[in-house]
Amino acid sequence: MSIDISTQAAKSIKHTRLFIDGQFVDALDGAEFDSINPSTGEVITKVSEAKEADVDRAVAAARRAFDSGPWRTMTPAKRAAALWRLGDLLLENAKELATIETLDQGKPYWLAEVSDIPSAAGLFHYMSGWATKIEGNTIPISAPGNYHSYTRREAIGVVGLIVPWNFPLVITAWKVAPALAAGNTVVLKPAEQTPLSALALAELALEAGIPPGVLNVVPGFGPTAGAALTAHPDVDKVSFTGSTATGRRIMQAAQGNLKKLTLELGGKSANIIFPDANLEKAIAGSKDGIFFNAGQACAAGSRLYVHEDIFDEFVGGLKTMAEGIKVGDGFDPTSEIGPLASLEHFERVSGYLSTGVAEGAKAITGGVRVGDRGYFVAPTIFTDAAPDSTIIQEEIFGPVVVATKFRDTDEVVALANDTRFGLAAGIWSNDVSTVHNVAARLRAGTVWANCYGVFDPALPFGGYKESGWGREMGHEVLNYFTEVKTVIVSVDE
Ligand code: NDP
Repeated sequence: MSIDISTQAAKSIKHTRLFIDGQFVDALDGAEFDSINPSTGEVITKVSEAKEADVDRAVAAARRAFDSGPWRTMTPAKRAAALWRLGDLLLENAKELATIETLDQGKPYWLAEVSDIPSAAGLFHYMSGWATKIEGNTIPISAPGNYHSYTRREAIGVVGLIVPWNFPLVITAWKVAPALAAGNTVVLKPAEQTPLSALALAELALEAGIPPGVLNVVPGFGPTAGAALTAHPDVDKVSFTGSTATGRRIMQAAQGNLKKLTLELGGKSANIIFPDANLEKAIAGSKDGIFFNAGQACAAGSRLYVHEDIFDEFVGGLKTMAEGIKVGDGFDPTSEIGPLASLEHFERVSGYLSTGVAEGAKAITGGVRVGDRGYFVAPTIFTDAAPDSTIIQEEIFGPVVVATKFRDTDEVVALANDTRFGLAAGIWSNDVSTVHNVAARLRAGTVWANCYGVFDPALPFGGYKESGWGREMGHEVLNYFTEVKTVIVSVDE
């Protein structure tokens, strides 16, 4: 990308300061950090850096807004209208938001505009509908006496939301929309690599009628701002998406006041191709399953298990498709995938590429950097990796897939489940019994059959095993943003 386009695009950035109690403000100590364009390695802008004292201010604002403010006590219909309006505003500002996302995260602009921004808007529209439908039950009881007993679903309070850098606005919406629909107030910490779309969202939320203090945004670093939020005694719940290692740290930090936790962590999802699959469809779907967003997706189909009868044909077809992917700057309309989101992550993924080769796997395509500036990696297919090798067991979070042969269903189910993760899985087969039987046997929170990576605000998403706790999206998520209160009233006969 030429400097001119970069400078032009940077005009979409209006907000770089913390958003607390309805105001954009500097950090108390005036600290700032650089936000970097991963396509070029250049600084886009400086962003205010929240530290513990700023997080305290944001939590205090959210607490005031929860305890005495207008959000929790607003009628559900009015809350619904504000959330719907926010969804509309995201769509109305799709071009600016997509520009911000491309600058900050690197993903293709065209994709951000047709996918990320509408997905984020869709979450607000979907959750707007739930704001008026959060109900309890009337429960007949058998205790001696005469009682009217019922449950109420109530907001939990102040929730801390910690978001990663792979789908900045989308994952923000996954968390903010249900948290607000249920009547909570929010302190949101975006990832330090991608803070800008969360700040743009804050302004739109105010415009949509979400009162000051209800949504606060504190860009900053994990070990400082993130740690302060997760340990804060006045935060009632944390919902986090990111690595399993950081998820563990958050569990420890949350123990002080026994915060409720939702953790959406890593994955190493198996994608299984049976010999009766429609190969053309399976190859194209598996390509998107791993290379979409440069593989920076928690549900990426990064372990490919292909039946031995079709292995060569399938892997040959996937290699051809991988080699046809245009890797490039997100503002180039021909780019299919952009760079990795940061230098640190580029180095981490490059390390896995070297480890794969050192451990005896074969990179049949890719395995190298693309270009000499920015953080681009070529779509990579490994074969011949041992089941316990690093590239099969650890989440790489890059455009890297490992293909392995299998012989029968029992073997492939065992291989697919041979992981500490359990986020998602794919099955490709034209046999309906194979699909349902294998779907039931896979230890994963989502199973796609004859498709991959289909998400919808109505579908719950989350992990088994070390992929996390709780679920996002669907009406299921509301259980994780509400408390259940049981009320028993003795009624005179
Ligand atoms: P992290 O899990 O460290 O970061 C995710 C978010 O957590 C960021 O907002 C980060 O802030 C914040 N954070 C970091 N440390 C703490 C802490 N102690 N307390 C509270 N919040 C914290 O992921 P990384 O960016 O380090 O990426 C490492 C690996 O994690 C990737 O290679 C990938 O495997 C996995 N990952 C998984 C994701 C998923 O969707 N499940 C998303 C992102 C990463 P900050 O960025 O400022 O450090």
